[in-house]
Amino acid sequence: MWCMIGQPKEKPYMDHQEIIERENQAMRATYAQQLRFRRYLMAVTSYLIGAFMVGLLVWLGYLTMEYYLYFIGLMVLINALFFVLFKTGLNLRFSDPSLTSLQIVASTILTVQISYLVTDGRGILLLLYLTSHLFGVFRLSFRQFLLLDAFSIAAYGLMLQLLIQNRPETIDINLEILYWAALIIVLPSFALMGAYLNRLRERLNERNTHLNKALKKIQELAVTDELTGLHNRRSIMSELSKEWERTERSGNHFCIALMDLDLFKEINDTYGHHAGDTVLKRFASLVSKELRSPDSIGRYGGEEFLLIMPNTRIIEAKTVTERIREKVAGYTHDDIDQGLTIHVSIGIAEYQNQSTQELLKQADTALYESKNNGRNRVSIHTTHLFD
Ligand code: GH3
Ligand code: MG
Ligand code: MG
Repeated sequence: MWCMIGQPKEKPYMDHQEIIERENQAMRATYAQQLRFRRYLMAVTSYLIGAFMVGLLVWLGYLTMEYYLYFIGLMVLINALFFVLFKTGLNLRFSDPSLTSLQIVASTILTVQISYLVTDGRGILLLLYLTSHLFGVFRLSFRQFLLLDAFSIAAYGLMLQLLIQNRPETIDINLEILYWAALIIVLPSFALMGAYLNRLRERLNERNTHLNKALKKIQELAVTDELTGLHNRRSIMSELSKEWERTERSGNHFCIALMDLDLFKEINDTYGHHAGDTVLKRFASLVSKELRSPDSIGRYGGEEFLLIMPNTRIIEAKTVTERIREKVAGYTHDDIDQGLTIHVSIGIAEYQNQSTQELLKQADTALYESKNNGRNRVSIHTTHLFD
């Protein structure tokens, strides 16, 4: 249960953590978009290889230059369209922002047309179907992949049907059916490979989520005092350094208070260590309720606490700490012993360009003054009396 004073419902590092989390999210989104664009560039490269292969068919006389130019024109158009989608971020509006299925469909339509238009050498074009489907292996689910396979196989089948219908004399039917059969056999194996990769990716994601949770927990533990839920010593000292730097830059003021429970050893000795722990937790909770939002408090030592009050002059700090002292004194720990009250002695000091160590020393001196003057009181470091 978190009980962070000064930021009652939040963890001590929350603000900082939230900023980091948001930055991480933005970074992840940018990285994902860069990755999609890089994959798009890979697709462009495979189109260029395709253009070269189809060029060979032109060179061998299996395709006219006119159709080749049509192929190149359509290829440029398709790639320009995807370029615009990725560069404007319009791809993010699609359920799959990588537009993998769409890219494979576009390339299949283009390839199937060229397969129809060539007079021979159709077999070499099968490689283009495979290359475009290869991109799906990294992205698509098994079902999506099967749908795409069905589309490609149907498109090829339709093309074959048209060939048989319109140009039966130019083709070797058995060979063409063999090509089609090869496509029917090979494409689903890509789907299986994709499903396997998907499973691996999911497992990796699960492990990452698990590790992130563990990291968060470790970060929480690193800044929290286990017993009271307040900042631990390291964390409150770091808060002090930050406040010191902030105030030095802004020229503002801040105060600190060292608070030490009075005769606490007697509580342990009389009622046991467990009762002592209960009192410490209760003290933390009581003080939490009395603080203002920018204030922060941490466990400085066993029954000693450090309170930081940003933008606060010593008179205000006195009011705040007097209120704390009264609240603590007014609480009766009836569950431990009927009418049992605990008191706190407090020493406060204001930042006046001195180092954090000096400031702590001044608050400590004031605390000892409170102890020496009978406890259950707030003392101000003496230099302030002459301000
Ligand atoms: P004073 O008014 O002078 O501060 O007297 P005191 O008894 O509070 O001071 P002292 O330093 O003699 O004793 C502090 C006690 O706090 C001793 C130690 O056992 C106890 N203490 C420190 N940490 C814990 C803790 O986590 N749990 C419990 N129950 N007791 C603790
Ligand atoms: Mg004490
Ligand atoms: Mg003490």
